[in-house]
Amino acid sequence: MKTIGYAAHSSESDLAPFAFDRRDPRPNDVAIDILYCGVCHSDLHTARNDWGNAVYPCVPGHEIVGRVTAVGSDVTKFEVGQTVAVGCLVDSCQHCDQCHKDHEQYCREGWTGTYNGADRITGENTMGGYSTHIVVREEFVLSVPDNLDVARVAPLLCAGITTYSPMREWNVGPGSRVAVVGLGGLGHMAVKIAAAMGAHVTVLSRSPGKEKDAIDLGAEAVLISTDEAAMARAASSFDFIIDTVPVYHDLNPYLPLLDTDATLVIVGQVGPLVETHTFPLIFARKRIAGSLIGGLKETQEMLDFCGRMNILPECEMIAMGDINTAYDRMEKSDVRYRFVIDMATMPAAA
Ligand code: NAP
Ligand code: ZN
Repeated sequence: MKTIGYAAHSSESDLAPFAFDRRDPRPNDVAIDILYCGVCHSDLHTARNDWGNAVYPCVPGHEIVGRVTAVGSDVTKFEVGQTVAVGCLVDSCQHCDQCHKDHEQYCREGWTGTYNGADRITGENTMGGYSTHIVVREEFVLSVPDNLDVARVAPLLCAGITTYSPMREWNVGPGSRVAVVGLGGLGHMAVKIAAAMGAHVTVLSRSPGKEKDAIDLGAEAVLISTDEAAMARAASSFDFIIDTVPVYHDLNPYLPLLDTDATLVIVGQVGPLVETHTFPLIFARKRIAGSLIGGLKETQEMLDFCGRMNILPECEMIAMGDINTAYDRMEKSDVRYRFVIDMATMPAAA
């Protein structure tokens, strides 16, 4: 099917309209008209080839919400007209131990990304949600709770699950003392979700201007990470820290804030960090861990949790043509707190 999207053609070029074909639905596929797509910092990293693995043309977007327009003959879970969502994954091997544990994001054979991945059948580069439609196998399509505003739900598909999954893994719950480093797309979801889980949430931000927002989002306290006295007073006061900083940075100021046996989980920067001192790790059995998005079952669990608790991201709606400005603003941490593209603004032709 002819599809219009927005693509980057090189690491230096702006995103621009781009026409391409989506496959006809296979028997196990769901065809979806995209209504909204969130703008994740990973989209920017990929379009600009920060991770050195970009394949061009690249149509980013992995926070997708839309309506089913057709289903293949073997599809049982979805029907035409239903509101559905697609996140960061569109396929995995489905037979390794990790896939059997519903951890498709750790598939032994490698998962297939919604964009910048290789289709498991044709090998073609996958194209993401900055586009008018998408075709995805049934197992990788999610149901959207009816009560959630469809215009705001998209960022849950990456920012939501990436913060929910490690909080479940490390048992965040009532009374947990949680700190969130970086109040951006992921960070603001971490605050909302942790607060809804019953945790006491502190935001660790470089940006004094975000203090009021942090409290409004559900945090009880804000620590400005450059305030050394305040950081010193917070020593050993957290059970769990989630670090969403997207660039090279220093963990050394954060490790003393962990209590004994507590965990700092990195979900932001992929790549090297400032050299880390092991003293706090060894002398108080603290841990540094990493975490990648979440599997399909857990993503559905997160959507249902957000439906029950009425949790939605704070979105700034943009037109498709505003994407390059949105990237520039995101790079300067100037977004409150997630851009969402209204796909009705896509040009009719590329
Ligand atoms: P974002 O909206 O740009 O937010 C990042 C926040 O980090 C900023 O708002 C800022 O918060 C802080 N920050 C930015 N630059 C910083 C710097 N130089 N030093 C310290 N803090 C800085 O980005 P996002 O969409 O939340 O994504 C965050 C990162 O997570 C990206 O690298 C993305 O690729 C990654 N990611 C990972 C996964 C995964 O599965 N692990 C999934 C999705 C995204 P303050 O102003 O409060 O300091
Ligand atoms: Zn993402």
